[in-house]
Amino acid sequence: MTEFLFMKSAEANYVREFDAIVIDSGTDAAAGAYVVLDKTAFYAEGGGQPTDTGILSWDSGARQAKVKLVTKKNGVRHFIVGEVPQKGATVHGALDWENRYALMRYHTAQHLLSAVVYDLYNGAHTVGNQIYANKSRADFYPAKFTDDDLKRIEEECNRRIALKPDVKIYEESRDSLEARMPQQRANLDLLPKSIAMLRIVEIDGFDVVPCAGTHVRNLSELGRLKIVAKETKGADKERVTFVLENE
Ligand SMILES: [Zn+2]
Repeated sequence: MTEFLFMKSAEANYVREFDAIVIDSGTDAAAGAYVVLDKTAFYAEGGGQPTDTGILSWDSGARQAKVKLVTKKNGVRHFIVGEVPQKGATVHGALDWENRYALMRYHTAQHLLSAVVYDLYNGAHTVGNQIYANKSRADFYPAKFTDDDLKRIEEECNRRIALKPDVKIYEESRDSLEARMPQQRANLDLLPKSIAMLRIVEIDGFDVVPCAGTHVRNLSELGRLKIVAKETKGADKERVTFVLENE
């Protein structure tokens, strides 16, 4: 099992370099050579958030490989290009931080947008999302947005950003969360019942949702949210695309 170093707190999402031990390696016919580490700060693609990329180095930096993809299908595999470190070796990992930090900002902004739409439009909930480092989108159902609606959503997002709420990350049991939150609000219906312990991402005062993604520690880091597109994706389903602009 690989420990993800970003899980336990909001602060932990800012770990961009770490040391780890290679516990397995191999080659996948499609994606190439990979290593498995005892712990990692690299995010493995999933939940609408893309993989982290970066570098693994070892032998005091004399040897290195590029991390091009991290997946968690059969254990957490770091697919690499370059030399392959030996099993048992200690490697130093370094994330492509510019990319990861952008993904943290966009993922947190998606939670904010989802909370705003839920609050303003009678529980319209998020049924899909895709995070990128330069834009993101979320799908809402049931929803039908006019241009004025989009303006209202955008304004409410930016009003909340201006209040600078903290983002908290912690563990909570499913039973405890179910007791204090409506099922739909926390998207609990999307999670397999077998998951008893949840990793909660909370925007203080505005949103509580289970999520394994990486996030910023305060909404002030988002800058300004701007909705740039809306598409209707079937009856009562709307796709909203947004960007973040620096103040
Ligand atoms: Zn999330």
